[in-house]
Amino acid sequence: MFSLHGSALGGGIAIGRARRIAPQLRDVARYRIEPQRVAAEALRIECAIADARQELEQVCEELPASAPAEARSLIDIHLMILQDDLLVEGARAIVLDHGWNAEWAVATQAQELAGKFDEFEDLYMRERGRDVRQVAERLLKTLSGSRASESTENDEPELFVAEDISPADMLMLRNSIGFAIDLGGTTSHAAILARSLNIPSIVGLHCARELIRDDDWLILDADAGVLIVAPDDEVLAQYRTLQAEALLARDKLKRLIHVPAVTVDGVAVELWANIELSGEAEAACEAGAAGVGLFRSEFLFMNRLDLPDEDEQFEAYRDAVVAMRGRPVTIRTLDAGADKPIEAMKDLVAANPALGQRAIRFSLAQPETFLVQLRAMLRASAFGKVRILLPMLAHGHEVDQSLRLIGQAREQLRDAGIPQAQRVEVGGMIEIPAAALSAAYFARRLDFLAIGTNDLTQYTLAIDRDDNTVAALYDPYHPAVLRLIAGTIRAANKLRRGVSVCGELAGEPAATPLLLGMGLRQFSMHPANLLRVKREVLQSNAGILSSRVARVLRAEDPVRARALREHLLDPERGGHTG
Ligand code: PEP
Ligand code: MG
Repeated sequence: MFSLHGSALGGGIAIGRARRIAPQLRDVARYRIEPQRVAAEALRIECAIADARQELEQVCEELPASAPAEARSLIDIHLMILQDDLLVEGARAIVLDHGWNAEWAVATQAQELAGKFDEFEDLYMRERGRDVRQVAERLLKTLSGSRASESTENDEPELFVAEDISPADMLMLRNSIGFAIDLGGTTSHAAILARSLNIPSIVGLHCARELIRDDDWLILDADAGVLIVAPDDEVLAQYRTLQAEALLARDKLKRLIHVPAVTVDGVAVELWANIELSGEAEAACEAGAAGVGLFRSEFLFMNRLDLPDEDEQFEAYRDAVVAMRGRPVTIRTLDAGADKPIEAMKDLVAANPALGQRAIRFSLAQPETFLVQLRAMLRASAFGKVRILLPMLAHGHEVDQSLRLIGQAREQLRDAGIPQAQRVEVGGMIEIPAAALSAAYFARRLDFLAIGTNDLTQYTLAIDRDDNTVAALYDPYHPAVLRLIAGTIRAANKLRRGVSVCGELAGEPAATPLLLGMGLRQFSMHPANLLRVKREVLQSNAGILSSRVARVLRAEDPVRARALREHLLDPERGGHTG
């Protein structure tokens, strides 16, 4: 028995037998083709491309209604690579001009092309290198005469173990109970899809495919990012119990769906949902969310070559608004860049993309693109309550310019006779320390604030939120971060502006008493966390927490601060009566 660690994508615990997906790009046979046969050998490449194309198109045609919205565009990228001259003509030339076999030609050319992408600093471009390798894998499987994603005939539930997996293959294997993947981080395509498909998965395991054998028993704890290989009976029994308990606890929590989120001392709290695609609004509603506190619109723009036009955006926003049945939907304007790259940014050369022209900076630099998005949001406001949220504010003039453009978008719709709501609230994300320290200034100019603790932590501590090597230093509970959060909540409350936390911290039950004690009354989180946070709210006494949290915020010493924080959760001492 041994365990491997990777990046957790969530989704619970899966227990099953390993099924390894063989990488084709390694150990590719290399041999000479006789001169009279090279033309036929080159034809094999063309046939393989045609077959791979057909297979991908079939995956698209057979996509179920429940498939994530980005699935089609991920497959489109692979279809485009299949037409890439550098890959196709380059491979043919290796056969025709140098007389090597088709497999070797495809593998060599793909590695060379992918290697070029690997040299980019930019995460988006590096991801394209992975796409090229995934396409080459498909071609090699086709050349070997097998289908790219063959289903297996085993009755046992299977856990797929792969060095990497293409979006199309993941979709074909969507009945799997889990994915253990060596490459990639939490923002890779595989990760995005696995989360949307709600399949327990871990990425970044590094050597799982090498160390695991077919049919090994695996325990995949996707919440902890731990993969246990060949567990002994005792561990297996423990995890089976944990799995059953988790299911039971989930069922028990469901009873809270319609219970109002009110603290022991009668303070009402609003629990909202974060969504990335309009299709997730339904889950938000089912979890009893008071509204959508953050719709990350950039997911509509990612993993595709073009920009979504006004109608496509409008339809996505409208669908979310309609699904929320009268509850407000807070749509954040494009927050692309750094860890969320889009094709339209590929020409931006930034030494440090996290500090570059991203989010609101990009939108204001591209007013025409921004206006398209604003019009789409305003059109959706005719179907329910829409709130517009501006990401990554640091300067007052960013608010002024955005408000001017919103006014312009309104006028354009009015002139065209297109309906929109009479009033749409505009809020700002507080996720840069400068904005947190100027929270009152932003609160005066805007209708509401939303605190993005993910970036606030990153920028306060100078820790890249996606860099594994400094992950241990990424700490949203650092006293400096907590003071910025508390100061923002205080400023907004004083000016009677709505304020929420929509970073991951809002979905952590351990942080609920802390945030309640800071005076937070709106939490926005992944729908899966909503009921666990509600349970915390129901057990808390906001009055008692308020004075205890003041003490936490005064503590300079991290050890003392932690002890005081733990004290907030102590049921014996009144803050938490459960
Ligand atoms: C945040 O930074 O906390 C946030 C909610 O935005 P995102 O995670 O999308 O950057
Ligand atoms: Mg952010």
